[in-house]
Amino acid sequence: MTNHIAENLLSVHAQIKQCAVQAGRDPNNIELLAVSKTKPVSDIVLAYEAGHRSFGENYVQEGVDKIAELKHLTDISWHFIGPLQSNKSRLVAENFDWMHSVDRYKIAKRLHEQRPHYAKPLNICIQINIDEEETKAGILPHELMPLLSDCEKLDRVCIRGLMAIPKASKVKSEQMTSFKKVQALFATCQQKYPQFDTLSIGMSGDIPAAIECGSTIVRVGTAIFGARD
Ligand SMILES: *Cc1c(COP(=O)(O)O)cnc(C)c1O
Repeated sequence: MTNHIAENLLSVHAQIKQCAVQAGRDPNNIELLAVSKTKPVSDIVLAYEAGHRSFGENYVQEGVDKIAELKHLTDISWHFIGPLQSNKSRLVAENFDWMHSVDRYKIAKRLHEQRPHYAKPLNICIQINIDEEETKAGILPHELMPLLSDCEKLDRVCIRGLMAIPKASKVKSEQMTSFKKVQALFATCQQKYPQFDTLSIGMSGDIPAAIECGSTIVRVGTAIFGARD
């Protein structure tokens, strides 16, 4: 049986490379995060066998179960990318390498307190509600600098940058409008925090727009693993 996941990974990598070149960027500065939420562990193993090493999960318990089952694959980097209730923060602090969706001080502080001493600081991104939508997670753009100041003393988390999910649109120019806002906000942050190196934007339907707007991590599920139920 052919491994469609391996083929899909190749074509997404090719797309990333092509978009990077078109945007005058180095493709090596764009990481592909394979979003495996709702997909079986066997799919993750197929991607792993094809050489892929970083996976994103949205639901805490599902993610923790998969991490436990694949404990023997010690070079996987696990990214939590979904909404997080504070009473589940310990599971993220203890099991994941990255957390993309920090949206309040309380979560950052709990992750800092709960990160095990034997592990490296947890890499985190602040999620921005870039189009200020009622239904979307993330902080509003004007709340960002105060939150970053509050987080400066939290040394068990390492703030790497920003994450955003734009208003749904299939039109590239509209996707760009959203992404440009988060790119500008990221540039502002970097003036105060030059160590910020991560802009987590772009999913299966908006990879070209995200790369044109400076994405350093694209989070891709459907284009790798197929449609979810
Ligand atoms: C599901 C999800 C993705 C992947 O979306 P696709 O459209 O399947 O590529 C990326 N980021 C987040 C936060 C998600 O929840």
